[in-house]
Amino acid sequence: MNFEITILGCSSAIPTAKRWLSSQWLTVHHRHYLLDCGEGTQIRIRQEKLPMQRLQCLLISHAHADHFLGLPGLLSTMDLLDRRQPLRLFAPKAVLDFLDYYISITGNVFRFELQLQVLEPDFEGLLFEDKGLQCYAVPLTHPVPCHGFLFYEKVGGRKLKKDWVEANHPGVQALKQLKQGKDVCLENGTVILSDEVTDPPAQVRSYGYLTDTRPRLDSVNKYDAVDILYHEATFMEMHKTRAKKTGHSTAKEAAELARQWGVGSLLLGHFSVRYRDLAPVLEEARSIFADCRLAENGYRIILPQTT
Ligand SMILES: [Zn+2]
Ligand SMILES: [Zn+2]
Repeated sequence: MNFEITILGCSSAIPTAKRWLSSQWLTVHHRHYLLDCGEGTQIRIRQEKLPMQRLQCLLISHAHADHFLGLPGLLSTMDLLDRRQPLRLFAPKAVLDFLDYYISITGNVFRFELQLQVLEPDFEGLLFEDKGLQCYAVPLTHPVPCHGFLFYEKVGGRKLKKDWVEANHPGVQALKQLKQGKDVCLENGTVILSDEVTDPPAQVRSYGYLTDTRPRLDSVNKYDAVDILYHEATFMEMHKTRAKKTGHSTAKEAAELARQWGVGSLLLGHFSVRYRDLAPVLEEARSIFADCRLAENGYRIILPQTT
């Protein structure tokens, strides 16, 4: 089962030729989720050859243009390509009002069902769950209501030992029970111990998306630390006053949060265009937390399944 993240854009308010605006594509167990939808997101989806029409769920962190202005274009293209499958959209009310306005002035009514859910400013906790994962929304600190999202893969069943299955051909029901960790008693009285014919389930994988915000360890430390954390690093320490004033973080602050929470590795993003060379941004973060990388357009992370 797959668990993959593709960075579509990671610039802050202003895009550059190389770094587009905030958007990420997450695939878990072959289900697809879009995190934020900055302007041009549909083009980036095309460039990365991602299955746009199979997108199931879209989450918008907050009502700043660099995180949602790509919505009308993306939804219109889905409609033009004859999408009929419903699409879940979690977003602040202001973003849903914007969509309503867009529809009212263009008369562009989508022929697929948009399952809208308002992300209330004070919401905190389990946002949704499906077959493969649970998504939690956590409150962030920004000039407008903003949420971060934490994704945790669900624990799978125990893994059957292939050789044993091929040699013994147990029935479907027995296989199901063994995968659940239950021992099975066959009609002839033979007892099959689950521990002997299965391996433990794969370790659960997790991902966190925290942008735009001041550092909010208090929001996340009640949850298990994630394997990979994407955290905004709009500024460097030399511009910390500006970071505080505008509700953003410095690279060092992002690294401090990653270290204190105990994440596996840190991915920095949402860079200010004032830093043409991002090497010093990375250096600043690495002085605090070594396992740290810079996001870039097209950067893809594949989290392997391990036992
Ligand atoms: Zn932003
Ligand atoms: Zn913002």
